[in-house]
Amino acid sequence: MENVLHDRDQPIVLVVDDDVTLRILVRESLEPSGFFVEEATDGAEAISLFRNLRPDIVLLDVMMPEMDGFTTCSELHKLRGDEQIPVVMMTSLDDTDSINRAYEVGATDFITKPINWAILPHRLRYILRASKAFNDLKRSEAKNQALLEAIPDMLFQIDRDGTLLEIKGARENRFTAIPNEFIGRKIGEVMPSEAAQAIMVHLEKAIVTREVQVFEYRDSIEGNTRFFEGRLVASGEEKVLAIIRDVTEHRLAEEQIFFLAYHDTLTHLPNRHLLKDRMRQALAYAQRHNLLVAILFLDLDNFKRINDTLGHNTGDLLLQGVGDRLVKCVRRSDTVARAGMERLEPTVARLGGDEFTVLLNGILSIQNAAKVAQRILDMLSQPFILGPHEVVITASIGITVFPIDSEDVETLLKNADTAMYQAKEQGKNNYQFYAESMNAVALERFTMENQLRKALKNQEFRLNYQPQMDLRTGKIVGVESVLRWVQPDRGSVQPEAFIPLAEDTGLILPIGEWVLQTACAETQGLRRNGFSSLSLTVNISSLQLRQKEFAQTVIQVVKASDMDPHHLELELTESIIMQNIEATVPKLQGLKDIGIQLSLDDFGTGYSSLSYLERIPLDTIKIDRSFINDIFRRPNCASIVKAIIAMAHSLNLKVVAEGVETEDQLAFLMENGCDQAQGYFISEPLPRDALIDLLDEWKSLDLKMFR
Ligand code: C2E
Ligand code: MG
Ligand code: MG
Repeated sequence: MENVLHDRDQPIVLVVDDDVTLRILVRESLEPSGFFVEEATDGAEAISLFRNLRPDIVLLDVMMPEMDGFTTCSELHKLRGDEQIPVVMMTSLDDTDSINRAYEVGATDFITKPINWAILPHRLRYILRASKAFNDLKRSEAKNQALLEAIPDMLFQIDRDGTLLEIKGARENRFTAIPNEFIGRKIGEVMPSEAAQAIMVHLEKAIVTREVQVFEYRDSIEGNTRFFEGRLVASGEEKVLAIIRDVTEHRLAEEQIFFLAYHDTLTHLPNRHLLKDRMRQALAYAQRHNLLVAILFLDLDNFKRINDTLGHNTGDLLLQGVGDRLVKCVRRSDTVARAGMERLEPTVARLGGDEFTVLLNGILSIQNAAKVAQRILDMLSQPFILGPHEVVITASIGITVFPIDSEDVETLLKNADTAMYQAKEQGKNNYQFYAESMNAVALERFTMENQLRKALKNQEFRLNYQPQMDLRTGKIVGVESVLRWVQPDRGSVQPEAFIPLAEDTGLILPIGEWVLQTACAETQGLRRNGFSSLSLTVNISSLQLRQKEFAQTVIQVVKASDMDPHHLELELTESIIMQNIEATVPKLQGLKDIGIQLSLDDFGTGYSSLSYLERIPLDTIKIDRSFINDIFRRPNCASIVKAIIAMAHSLNLKVVAEGVETEDQLAFLMENGCDQAQGYFISEPLPRDALIDLLDEWKSLDLKMFR
């Protein structure tokens, strides 16, 4: 009841003593100083009051009947729980035993009788203050501990050389938890190596700069990559506090968000955003490498009918199916550029509705685009099985080509769309180029490709031979075979018109083998019939050289023809060799080992980097005919030709000049020590019979000037 009078700010003192005088004196001493005093006459009363009153401090007499002060103190001690309510015991001055016992049973302090009444209030206030500070500290520590336990991060302290000093923090994340047994061990022994390395690097920085170091690392755990964020804070001269957080979920969520922003949710294909991004990259790359980029814009024919009759779910399934087929369809080698350029995967995107786009990167000809379009049409014409339904669908495709139609992403997309409408107008289920003229070109190439496929079987290929003259003796010492395609309705086609196509389609492989066989057989025939010193040069395509079994094939053909390998020379171009020098050199070495000669065609037109000349086991360099042509026309050409000859000789290489058309050019080459020459001045490439006539004629020529 006295509680009612109690002012909240007043400290409550419970004084426990059987001596009423003492209780009165305590009250009189303390009340004027602002204490609220409550009295208990024995231990039992003290305990009950303590429960109800929760006093701020207890003054307890040692000597009491029934329950003595010590027993009372230890009971109170049990009652006061976590909160430290100070208990001050009142003892006699010289009773050191009591003082010791008082501490043992949990007393906070003691005062000796007789009590100095003037000092008592001050003494109690001091004890209260100390106990409050103690309680505050305890509370704050408990709060910190709770905080540490609540955060999902792993915390530990390490010293400068990476020894674990203390481990705190959450244990429930098994990917970051470190057991206490590891205290005293080096971080490198107990953590994954990538984590330990990152920590050691940043630890030094944290100590030196005194700034928080934040870093990330990943770790492969049970076959999955997990991501972690580490923070290091210097926590002493030579100590660092490390906080490790598992950020895997966060990262995955981020990736998911990114994916959703750039992909179509139905088909998971790139959306318009990502397509434009990829287009910009593709255009930049194509510009740098002189390639084409084609954009195919595809719209399903009569898709609405399927949606209307079979329902939207079936429509969705169909769109997914189309997306899958498109991806499979373009994942082929059509877009692999030839001359040493890296592969660029095409992109299939869905722009919405039933519209899809295929971006073909880095293609060499519009024919590549036409072929992909045709393949898509063929592939879509296979029925789709959608649940209980079998659906047949066609599409119309518009094609636009960078940089021919436009150099700008938006315009290209618009062009492709326009071209797609042209395809619809043409009766659907077909493709159309944006530029009308390209449709004709594509058609022509298709026709040519079909004819080329049949040419070998129909025996439409011939070989012509161009004589090569030795510039010291004037004799014809060799011939270069050049391929001709004689079509029944078109006549002779020059190699430049069909070899790129033969390479694109892979047809160059059987054709090249036929060339080698035929050239070896025919030349060997000539060698047997009076021209025994004649050697043969054969042009080789890059695709042939890329074949694994190339050297084997050549060796077989040479053996079959009975030709001495020393009289066969293979002509390669710089781009062929540069493409994959590591894989090429051993193949060439294999050929050299059996005596076959190697020559470098069109020297001076390509990279002409001297560094690979010494890596390739070459015998001959052929100076490109553009230099010979310009010897007397361009000011520096003569010097260049002289320099090439000198350089080749210093590398022990033979030099052959190509495309010699005049007597002046021939004289210049002779004067400057060129070894051999070929060209119209000596002879055009000739069919075999005409070659025999020329060789016969040459034999009887008076070559006095050379002796
Ligand atoms: P190339 O190996 O540099 O062949 C020389 C080309 O120059 C031949 O053209 C030849 O007819 C021409 N030519 C020769 N002398 C002169 C001249 O004095 N003036 C001029 N203006 N031209 C001359 P062709 O036969 O049209 O061959 C062109 C290219 O086709 C060849 O260049 C070669 O790279 C390739 N080629 C020819 N036959 C084959 C073959 O069987 N296989 C492969 N893979 N490529 C071949
Ligand atoms: Mg050649
Ligand atoms: Mg050449």
